[in-house]
Amino acid sequence: MTDEHPFPLKDRSPRPKGNASGRIGRTSRSADSPQLAGASEVLHTLIREFECLPGIGRKTAERLAYYVLRVPVDEAMKLAYAIRDVKKTLRNCKTCFHITETQECTICSDLERDSSTICVVEQSKDVYAIEASGSYRGKYHVLLGAFAPLDGVVPGDLTIEPLLGRVRQGGVEEVILATNANFEGDGTALLVSEKLKAIPEVRVTRLARGMPSGSHLEHVSRTIVSDALEGRREMHDS
Ligand SMILES: [Zn+2]
Repeated sequence: MTDEHPFPLKDRSPRPKGNASGRIGRTSRSADSPQLAGASEVLHTLIREFECLPGIGRKTAERLAYYVLRVPVDEAMKLAYAIRDVKKTLRNCKTCFHITETQECTICSDLERDSSTICVVEQSKDVYAIEASGSYRGKYHVLLGAFAPLDGVVPGDLTIEPLLGRVRQGGVEEVILATNANFEGDGTALLVSEKLKAIPEVRVTRLARGMPSGSHLEHVSRTIVSDALEGRREMHDS
């Protein structure tokens, strides 16, 4: 038995700003709060790990670490086990890269769904947002991030090549680019659209601008997602 998963869950989201490893405070103790001077190294480690989580600053990281310290062992271990289970159980679908517990996700293996349309999104959470709108019955492709060279995410980090491979296999009539309506999302849509020009028989569309500019798919209402899908526009001149 090994901890290595055959299809380990990939996350190519930019790490929080910090040192080269993306970890904040790894190399310096000087940023530690005065009240933590002399605290256990184990506690420092927990605080630093919390601080690496999105949206968590030093103060919140300290509060969470002290909460873990205070609660009974059983309670604290539930969090540890939940993290372990997510990392050991979940993987990326071998076809579309959506999160799944099996080799192929339930959407890819659903024969009722329309295989001639692929909706391209940045993250699995976008799949959930579109599914919640109830207005899409095709397949998906999760890029596992957005093109963001300033954050170190280059085209090779995204699952663009497997997408091109799927389209080249045939049977795909339309690719809907449903990346976020922000700078990175628009850049990513343009990049993927350029690559798809090599397969002229496929129609490439982009979600309508009904989505508020700068918005993330996961945060807009079901109706807006539905309208954006309905009013999608062509990316390539015909
Ligand atoms: Zn899949």
